[in-house]
Amino acid sequence: MSEELERRKCVIIGSGPAGYTAAIYAARADMEPLVYTGMQPGGQLTITTEVDNYPGYPDGVNGPQMMEDLRKQAERFGTEVRYELVTEVDFTGPVHKVIINDKTVLADSVIIATGASAKWLGLESEQRLNGFGVSACAVCDGFFYKGQEVVIVGAGDTAAEEASYLAKLCSKVTMLVRRDEMRASKAMQHRVMNTPNIEILFNHETVEILGDKGVEGVKAKNNATGEEITIPCTGFFVAIGHKPNTDIFKGWLDMDETGYLKVTPGSSKTKIPGVFASGDAADKVYRQAVTAAGTGCMAALDAERYLADIGIH
Ligand SMILES: Cc1cc2nc3c(=O)[nH]c(=O)nc-3n(C[C@H](O)[C@H](O)[C@H](O)COP(=O)(O)OP(=O)(O)OC[C@H]3O[C@@H](n4cnc5c(N)ncnc54)[C@H](O)[C@@H]3O)c2cc1C
Repeated sequence: MSEELERRKCVIIGSGPAGYTAAIYAARADMEPLVYTGMQPGGQLTITTEVDNYPGYPDGVNGPQMMEDLRKQAERFGTEVRYELVTEVDFTGPVHKVIINDKTVLADSVIIATGASAKWLGLESEQRLNGFGVSACAVCDGFFYKGQEVVIVGAGDTAAEEASYLAKLCSKVTMLVRRDEMRASKAMQHRVMNTPNIEILFNHETVEILGDKGVEGVKAKNNATGEEITIPCTGFFVAIGHKPNTDIFKGWLDMDETGYLKVTPGSSKTKIPGVFASGDAADKVYRQAVTAAGTGCMAALDAERYLADIGIH
């Protein structure tokens, strides 16, 4: 005789700002949500020090603290949090399957909030100084370097966009581009090249980020001549791309060419009824905690209406 499977009204995959905000709304709507945290409970903000741009914290907040607050708020209304990784899904439906290794949970609605991961260069000094001068988000951390000199690595549209953003705040922005040209659109290239306080160093790669407790400079190498230079700076921004954590949804949901989930514009609805997507996993444009929280809220409201429509209360 087959074992009866656990069935939940709402399963939320991911525990960043999107997942926990969805959980707060779903729990308060009596959907008894179950959150799977994945390998990074609390999400990306748990690897940052200061979050200064999330509304409601006038003095800023430590990233891990903020995520702990969000978890407690979700649990206060009855959210169940499991510290496990979802390994597979089956959206053949109408009831969806969320699979954790050899265990299957049935879900009337699923909210995806699996986020995205910034790509890093892979240097020891980059890891050691992460959050202490090294950042992958100019919009998040640029303000801390107001009036100072910074270095940014990258050659695509996002790197060009972030360099322009930093140039408005910082006294000088040095952009390290690995090849002899940028990948960014012509318009974006034109913008950075015509910004007086942005200097682009083509054919340059980062060798090491210098500093003990904070960034003091960057050692870079010209890969055409072999010459090494040291660039003094207090901030080092990595803008070489992000990877959405959406591999387990391949074949089930529509994605763009880089793996970002597609939703019906103005909603969190995917092409599968009862499956909703929120946060960075479905947003390659804004990638902020507050926008992730906002779309997490949308996903819970969409799920709640979906359940009501199919008669699940
Ligand atoms: C260093 C750093 C500093 C930042 N600073 C700021 C800032 O100051 N202000 C700001 O607004 N934004 C900041 N951001 C961006 C912000 O962190 C993200 O926009 C936000 O966290 C996205 O939220 P999310 O909920 O979509 O996903 P994430 O925070 O990425 O969380 C994704 C969650 O999904 C889980 N997960 C993934 N796969 C699975 C799976 N298979 N099963 C179960 N769970 C899974 C992960 O474990 C994680 O809990 C920063 C980002 C970084 C990296």
